[in-house]
Amino acid sequence: MNYKITVLGSGAVGKSSIVVRYSRGSFTDIYDPTIEDMCTKQDEFDGKACVLEILDTAGQEEYSTMREQYMQSGQGFILVYTITSAQSLDTLREMRNKIYSVKQKPDTCMIPMVVVGNKTDLEDERAVSTEDGKKFAESIHAGFIECSAKANLKIRDVFEEIIRRVNNS
Ligand code: GDP
Ligand code: MG
Repeated sequence: MNYKITVLGSGAVGKSSIVVRYSRGSFTDIYDPTIEDMCTKQDEFDGKACVLEILDTAGQEEYSTMREQYMQSGQGFILVYTITSAQSLDTLREMRNKIYSVKQKPDTCMIPMVVVGNKTDLEDERAVSTEDGKKFAESIHAGFIECSAKANLKIRDVFEEIIRRVNNS
């Protein structure tokens, strides 16, 4: 089975790092923040083979036609913030609303989403509590995971969770 997954969030929260860590198993400190990339990853969840087509979005043009197109075609959405920035979490509400309006879905309809708090290795710089992240995720009926692309913590869980939600939608 094929899954179209879209990764959204503010700049520098670690979207590309999460996708690269998951799809290639590596991490580097330098990524081009402007690169928007589609990658394909084969995996197996619950004993079922699947192909994930992951769109790693970039850029600030939140309301571009391009952005609407990939919101339209995504089946599941990974909404990333960094635990070091409260603003990066605030941005996700707007993005969530935009996805609903582009897909023309009423609030009662559940679009599969997972809220992801990245950079848990930077505990000293934490600005968003786990509780606040979880509360936001619950408020939009999304899954919730804290992870670290750098420390390679909970990365596969993110994708497992979104696949599970797409399957149940
Ligand atoms: P994007 O703009 O959302 O795609 O963010 P990037 O993946 O390009 O990451 C932005 C910066 O944050 C880069 O310098 C990454 O190396 C760094 N970064 C990404 N994930 C983590 C993480 O889990 N921990 C730490 N400490 N840094 C990270
Ligand atoms: Mg990026």
